[in-house]
Amino acid sequence: MAITGSCHCGKTAFRIDADIPAQLTRCTCSLCAKRGALLAYCEPAQFHLTTPAADAVYRWQTRQVAHHFCPVCGCATYSDSPAFEPDGKWDGVTRRIGVNARLFDDFDAALAPTVVIDGKHLW
Ligand SMILES: [Zn+2]
Repeated sequence: MAITGSCHCGKTAFRIDADIPAQLTRCTCSLCAKRGALLAYCEPAQFHLTTPAADAVYRWQTRQVAHHFCPVCGCATYSDSPAFEPDGKWDGVTRRIGVNARLFDDFDAALAPTVVIDGKHLW
């Protein structure tokens, strides 16, 4: 069952060829704490933009993570990042997409179970 979603203005829409994860991820790093995104992780091959790419990208600190957002309405859309292990290690190759589950169609991310990742102390 594919997931669909979009930013507020609809300029960025996407499809994920996967089910909504049983738990969303809430990261405590300084950026996530301010953006308020609840993340659903997927493999890069499962994530498809269904609108022409017209987004903006924010990178900070190590600049390894591309945080995409809509330049029109400002919604955080998805982040393309190294597939870090829970302890912050990375194999140097594998990537992961963290999609903002608050943008999913017909889904209330605020009511979903979450797991907290300690980004505040990991990066
Ligand atoms: Zn938008």
